Amino acid sequence: MTVSAAVPAAARPAASRPAASRLGAAAAHPRSLPEHAGDAKAGAAASSGAKPKNRTRSAEPRLRPPLRGPKPDPHDISALVPSGKGMILMRGHSDKGRRWHQEIDLELAITLVKEQAAVIINRRTIRRIYSNKDFRKFILTRDNYTCCFCGLYGDTIDHLLPRAKGGHTTPDNCVCACNLCNQSKADLYVEEFIGR
Ligand SMILES: [Zn+2]
Repeated sequence: MTVSAAVPAAARPAASRPAASRLGAAAAHPRSLPEHAGDAKAGAAASSGAKPKNRTRSAEPRLRPPLRGPKPDPHDISALVPSGKGMILMRGHSDKGRRWHQEIDLELAITLVKEQAAVIINRRTIRRIYSNKDFRKFILTRDNYTCCFCGLYGDTIDHLLPRAKGGHTTPDNCVCACNLCNQSKADLYVEEFIGR
C-alpha cells in the first residue's frame, strides 16, 4: 500500500515537465512569427479558443477571379492576374500542330491580347491564336495580297512598328507588303518611310 501511495509522489516531479516545455514553446514562438504573419487575423480569432485548423478557405473573401469557372471575356485584359513573379503563361501550337508554352510578362501578354494575337483562357493564361504559317496566311488574305504601301501585289509580311523598335508580330502591327517596299522600309517608322 505504501509503495503504491509513493507512486503519485514520484510522478510529481514529472508533472513539472509540461511547464518547462511550455517555456520552450514560448521561446520558439517569436521565430515562427514571420512565417505566420499572414495569419495574424486568424490568430486573433483563435485567441477566443478556436484553433487555426478550424478556419475554412471558403470563409475567406476571394481576392482574385477563379482559374476555373465561368470563362472570362477572351479580350478583357482586366481579367489577367499575373503570378507572384509577374508572369502570364502563353500557350500555342506550331505549324506542325505541336503544343508549346512559355511564360511572358504581363505587359507583353496585354499587348498580344490588345493587338489581336492572343486570347485570354483564364486569369493566368493566354493562347496565341495563330501558328507562324497561319499568321502569314491570315495577314495576306486579310489584305488581299495587296501591298499596304504601293498597292501592288504583295506576299510578304511587314511590321508597321519594326520589331527592332519594339513592334510585335500581331495582326494590328502587321500588314501585307510587296518585297520591294518591305526591303526599303526595313527598320523605318511608317512616317519616315512614307515621307521619303
Ligand atoms: Zn509595295
